[in-house]
Amino acid sequence: MNALNDKNILLLHPLGYKVEDAAQDISRKANIMPPLGLASIAAYLEREGFHCDILDGYAYPDVDQPLKQLLRQQRPALLGVSCTTASFHDSVRLAQLAKAELPEIEVVFGGSHVSALKEKILEFSPVIDYAVTGEGEQVMLELAQRGGGDPAQIGGLVWRAADGSLVNNGYRSDALVLDDLPFPAYEKLAGYPAAYKLPIFNYPTAPNSSCISSRGCPYSCSYCDRSVFRSSFRFNSAEYLYQHLKYLQQRFSIRHINFYDDQFTFHRDRVEEFCQMMINQPLGMTFNCAVRAEHVDRELMQLMKAAGCWMVSLGIESGDELLLSQHRQNVNLDRLGDTIRMINSCGIRTKGLLMMGLPGENEESIRRSMDYVFSLPLDDFNLAKFTPFPGSPIYDNIHELGTFDEDWPKMDCMHFQFVPHGMEKERLEKLFIEFYKSHFRRHRVLFGYLTMLWKSPDSWLRFAGSAGQFVRFALSNKRYGSS
Ligand code: SF4
Repeated sequence: MNALNDKNILLLHPLGYKVEDAAQDISRKANIMPPLGLASIAAYLEREGFHCDILDGYAYPDVDQPLKQLLRQQRPALLGVSCTTASFHDSVRLAQLAKAELPEIEVVFGGSHVSALKEKILEFSPVIDYAVTGEGEQVMLELAQRGGGDPAQIGGLVWRAADGSLVNNGYRSDALVLDDLPFPAYEKLAGYPAAYKLPIFNYPTAPNSSCISSRGCPYSCSYCDRSVFRSSFRFNSAEYLYQHLKYLQQRFSIRHINFYDDQFTFHRDRVEEFCQMMINQPLGMTFNCAVRAEHVDRELMQLMKAAGCWMVSLGIESGDELLLSQHRQNVNLDRLGDTIRMINSCGIRTKGLLMMGLPGENEESIRRSMDYVFSLPLDDFNLAKFTPFPGSPIYDNIHELGTFDEDWPKMDCMHFQFVPHGMEKERLEKLFIEFYKSHFRRHRVLFGYLTMLWKSPDSWLRFAGSAGQFVRFALSNKRYGSS
């Protein structure tokens, strides 16, 4: 039998559930995001002389055969798997399949779920050789370079010693300087950019893409797992960011970018500088980003609008101030409302991000959230079902706060796996549907979606192509099949 090729690395993004369900999964159809973390690792490794392939099972669900084929052709020494809590079991299944094909291959798991659970990940299955804690670029490079040697010196790695004991090397102390990174290897993503879709009605033009320009967040919301990038805020300079967009525009004809950063405007100076570049040397591109109310003002928003900002998302989470203050810092719903109205008056669309079912939630707090959201001039909103992820501060004592069914494949923010004390799951489901229906029944909202006919014609084409599925989803609140 041929030896494995130490220079070849395969990176895998699993679908996370049964392939038969993928065609019915309307949330997948509505939003397929490129696996930017894997694309960044691939670019980093290729710069150092390795050959990387990326298999994206989320964009192309039928991944088993292509995986076997690539393993046979490339005989990679390393398989890197990026997984979430919901996709973990599917990731293990694919790792088993890889080991059955190439028993000598080393399997590395990474991602927020893995960073949060550390040794427990390796305890879960013998097919997982390594777990990465933190960002993956340097760890994958050092694993690939060591050619089978001892991984004791590789920071950010959990591994199995010869006697079977688990060793956690701890987080790395040398965080990456983001401007030193090559642009993600988008060209390694089959069908990019056409195969990837931003959420419907969340962009004006296609082709479009997501992009990340910073890592980390200094806040500590109770429901947020920051195990990978942690609390320091690192960011690309304005110049790097501008060149990144220019590259996407010139190489892939991208016309709109969704910045996937947690806090795009946290460092005001760089955003101002970036906007000035977009104004002085226009790229003909628009962009979306997420902000916190504390980090924007009218002057900045006017500048961003002039630079091409199309939509801004804000985490509202709940319209009940008392409930919210148990879960995040600087809660001030009046200020948040004023900020949303101000952004709106600058001609930028606003999207509110909400969550239902937080510990402490009850019917009154949900009704307060509805009243609050419907009083705001939001153009779009997304309501998630609160899910206590491993690594989030609230996970540690979640069982004291309600009933928690820790069924990982269902922990995708689309199932009420946690039910706070005093509530029932069926009631939460009914209120969830009522929230959405009430939103869509409002004339202002319906008119807003109608204006998307000319503001985002590509969205309407996609919507029309799957209208039946979207309506079914809105009425049943079921992602796919019977789940
Ligand atoms: S929810 Fe947002 S603001 Fe809060 S800790 Fe997470 S990334 Fe930061």
